[in-house]
Amino acid sequence: MSMGTGAKARFDAIREVNSRTPRRFDPPRDDHGKRLRISDYYGVNTFDIHKMREKLPKDAYTKLLSTIQTGKKLDPEIANTVAHAIKEWALSRGVTHFCHWFQPQTGSTAEKHDAFLTIDEHNRPFEKFSDSQLIQSEPDASSFPSGGMRTTFEARGYTAWDPSSPVFIMEHRNGKTLCIPSVFISYHGDALDEKTALLRSMETLSQRACNLLHLIGEKGVKRVIPTLGIEQEYFLVDRAFYSLRPDLIMTGRTLVGGQPPKGQQLEDHYFGSIPARVQAFMSEMEQELYKLGVPVKTRHNEVAPSQFETAPIFEEANIATDHNQLVMEILRKVAARHNFSVLLHEKPYAGVNGSGKHNNWSLMTAASGPDIDGENLLDPGTTPHQNLRFLLILASVLRGVHHNSGMLRASVASSGNDHRLGANEAPPAIISMFLGDLLSRILNQIETGTIDKSVDAAVLKLGISKLPEVMRDNTDRNRTSPFAFTGNKFEFRAVGSSASTAFPTTLVNAAVADGIEYVTEVLARKFNEKKELETAILDTVRQIIQETKAIRFEGNNYSEEWVKEAEKRGLPNLRKTPEALAELLTERSLKTLARLGIFTEAEVISRFHVRTERYIKNILIEVDTLRSMVDTQILPAGYAYQGMLSGSVASAKAAGVPAPQFEVLKRISTLIHSLQGKRSDLDVALQKTDAAATEEEKARILSGDITTFMGEIRTICDELESLTADDYWPLPKYRELLFLSVS
Ligand code: ADP
Ligand code: MG
Repeated sequence: MSMGTGAKARFDAIREVNSRTPRRFDPPRDDHGKRLRISDYYGVNTFDIHKMREKLPKDAYTKLLSTIQTGKKLDPEIANTVAHAIKEWALSRGVTHFCHWFQPQTGSTAEKHDAFLTIDEHNRPFEKFSDSQLIQSEPDASSFPSGGMRTTFEARGYTAWDPSSPVFIMEHRNGKTLCIPSVFISYHGDALDEKTALLRSMETLSQRACNLLHLIGEKGVKRVIPTLGIEQEYFLVDRAFYSLRPDLIMTGRTLVGGQPPKGQQLEDHYFGSIPARVQAFMSEMEQELYKLGVPVKTRHNEVAPSQFETAPIFEEANIATDHNQLVMEILRKVAARHNFSVLLHEKPYAGVNGSGKHNNWSLMTAASGPDIDGENLLDPGTTPHQNLRFLLILASVLRGVHHNSGMLRASVASSGNDHRLGANEAPPAIISMFLGDLLSRILNQIETGTIDKSVDAAVLKLGISKLPEVMRDNTDRNRTSPFAFTGNKFEFRAVGSSASTAFPTTLVNAAVADGIEYVTEVLARKFNEKKELETAILDTVRQIIQETKAIRFEGNNYSEEWVKEAEKRGLPNLRKTPEALAELLTERSLKTLARLGIFTEAEVISRFHVRTERYIKNILIEVDTLRSMVDTQILPAGYAYQGMLSGSVASAKAAGVPAPQFEVLKRISTLIHSLQGKRSDLDVALQKTDAAATEEEKARILSGDITTFMGEIRTICDELESLTADDYWPLPKYRELLFLSVS
């Protein structure tokens, strides 16, 4: 290496990034070239309820609607009519191919395209799309992770249309594909994907919630739906920098990188004005999502530099889940057009905040029509009855989360999320619930039966009818809690930013269904004791409050005191993925999920294996990437600078002048030496990993020794970066990645 050329590519990248301008793109226009409103083109690429009504005969429309609303099987008689309508609509929009779009256990989506084109017996081409092509498909599925399901059962996997999620058209630069949201199941009906169990959990939750509501006299409620609004955090980095970082390319996070003098401590990025280039990116991203009928609503700068967030209006949990997959996909696609790479990893950069998905979750009674306008069961409401109902549902969530905190922790476990949950960063690995000051006080008073002045005495007597007004203004914020009540919904903040939300939501649904079942039994017993409605409910709520105290925590979840306090309360603190995943296999998790009809035991075990395997692969990829960066970029930069300094020291000596740079040379040499040493230690530890008898053992070594060695290697690399002349350093530095990318 000649002097100082190590950084040439980096300097070129800086120049390239500094010359960027916001990308111009075409907003949708009408035939006269006038810009359309969002509401004019919203959902043009989905075959939604409005299009069904428009394109289908009345009878078929009514039947399809009822299929969607009741979750029942599709009437085979109408399938052909529906397939025909969808085909005509798709062809009229220039679509050439279709695919079953499904969610294998990889965290992302899968699709295999088929052309509509068919050739008839006279060798004439025509477009065909039959009812069976709409309803079912058999992809060659042997390469999707099944966690052993397919050796235990049958190798074949099927995808089946999920009519509750609208069919949509995905546009590419040079074509369009019709995507049919589907579930992916084995020949025997085992869930091979993320969606099947989510749909099952919604069904179970609805049944259990209806049972409870019927018991308190709401006989008319036929269905209850979990609602979900997912706040998605992400980082943007310029493509030119990204391309020079093997770690970002291979692992989604930086494995090395010294801290810049300024990080997020000034808090000047949060809610700051959105940089022009990012604004252009966001607008185009939102435009694509609107066409797909994804109701993205808010956008803003997040806490860390170059970190952002987008959040939609909430929807039914299964649709919100599909839509979040689309959000992640469109984020990636549109970012590339703007010369950005989007980083969905939970912790792309050390020293600044990581990214999560905040899952805002609630329960809603189903309305009669196609719209989401039922009653929110976690809204305290305005009448005494609504207040009592609210308390029962709240008690159910308390019981559900308290009793099933292990599987909830497991639901968010991943190698990426370990950097958030295990570290002092939102939120911790200990699952607890935050209710806010006023609600806590109300629960305390229900528990003791005494009323203090802070809550009006009348509130309790009237069945807490005053709750809503007071509540709304009083829901305080606790950003450190993994499961926080925010006025009329819970926010599960422990979900990782890159994760599919299906599994965590399935397990939240399962936990709450379990809680509701328990509360319903307790309440039924009170009724058997001939207690009146109000007394029976308040007695039930009191009992649950007493039983679930340990799960409630209003303080700072990051503090050391909480770690100690949680331990006293017997709440598990599962910092790393291997120990968290083990919670899936406890007797309680297996029994509960099987009883609720959400996962068979074999399905849970397969999920455990898939997730353990993914954890192992992710860490091994990180290790390999780090080794190659050390060997081919970091050590060579160190050698080159060391060589330059040696020459300079020799020249100084030859000239008979002092050579103080000798001190730097010594330090650089020491660092190179210890880096080489640690690099060998890592190799030895890896051999131990290879020799591990089981996957679990392997995962434990990776989460222990290997992770520790990687951290130590990083520390040395970062010091080397801080001492090496800037024009010898090949990797874009944190100050560039974080502060130049989006300016
Ligand atoms: P925050 O309360 O975090 O400031 P918002 O009020 O904007 O933010 O809500 C955050 C997310 O919660 C949005 O996606 C929103 O649609 C969603 N949300 C609001 N009400 C509900 C609900 N009843 N069920 C599920 N999600 C909801
Ligand atoms: Mg929020």
